[in-house]
Amino acid sequence: MKRLLSILLLTTLLLTGCAREGQRTHFAMNTVMDFTVWAGDTQSALDACVQTVNDLEAAFSVTDPDSSLSRLNQGQSVTFPDSWADILDRAEEMSRRTGGAFDPKLHNVSKVWGFYDGQYHVPTSEQIQEALASPAWDLGGALKGYAGSCLCALLEEQKVQRAILNLGGNIQTFGSKADGTPWQIGIQNPDGGDYLGVVSVTGTMAVVTSGDYQRYFEEDGVRYHHILDPETGYPARTDLRSVTVICRDGLTADCLSTALFVMGLEEASEFWRASDDFEAVFVTNDGRILATQGAVLSGCEYEVIAR
Ligand code: ADP
Ligand code: MG
Repeated sequence: MKRLLSILLLTTLLLTGCAREGQRTHFAMNTVMDFTVWAGDTQSALDACVQTVNDLEAAFSVTDPDSSLSRLNQGQSVTFPDSWADILDRAEEMSRRTGGAFDPKLHNVSKVWGFYDGQYHVPTSEQIQEALASPAWDLGGALKGYAGSCLCALLEEQKVQRAILNLGGNIQTFGSKADGTPWQIGIQNPDGGDYLGVVSVTGTMAVVTSGDYQRYFEEDGVRYHHILDPETGYPARTDLRSVTVICRDGLTADCLSTALFVMGLEEASEFWRASDDFEAVFVTNDGRILATQGAVLSGCEYEVIAR
């Protein structure tokens, strides 16, 4: 009887253990993050996620003046943990791949616009030229995506079965949903309110959006957003309001969402035609929604960008 009871107890624990869900909200990298994981030891997996995000922030965030990257920008010699040492090279590689539309060294330019300290103002063109002439690292357009992929590797080690990680609008899925249906991720309406549409993805995937509504200020009736054109040092003048990139790799998705936004619809569509590692959804200034051929979008009317 005692044996039967313990078997019953064990079975119950295993069953609930399988279905168990753990959730954590965490503020890091200047944004609210939300992690939901299923199965395994969810609490220690969540602890590990929070620790990794904090460690990445301490290493690479330039809004933190004491981070290793900030100290590198100040000319100090720093070392990064081996497992993350590739991020700088990979960001530079993405810069080359996008013809410079993604530029991980715009720190001083963002600074003169007041995008770090919230003291927003339009700088003089001399200030912008000066800032462009003194490149310094800023991985704001890559770090959250990179973090998403790092967390997936960690969840794999932790034997978590599935997870959905929201890193401040950067969505990272991990594993497959229990019922086998795709993950569904809403595309934000740049004007606020309801989602514009829903992207479906299967398995581990990064779904990353860059938009002009995420950080901006207005001066004399003109709106200045935080995604900069590396050629001019001004907020990118683009026909897009947002770009969502769907890609297996988080850093690639993050860098591309920023770069395609800078490129604008036509150049971004050509860039996609010449690539084979991502899909994208575009929302234009005049309210059109367009999706590349391989993107699975529902809940809205949209135009398909063909190969
Ligand atoms: P968010 O971080 O708001 O989700 P993005 O991924 O598009 O959006 O990154 C924007 C951030 O990247 C800016 O806040 C700035 O730190 C940096 N940045 C701005 N313009 C560029 C650019 N052209 N290339 C690379 N990084 C950029
Ligand atoms: Mg980005």
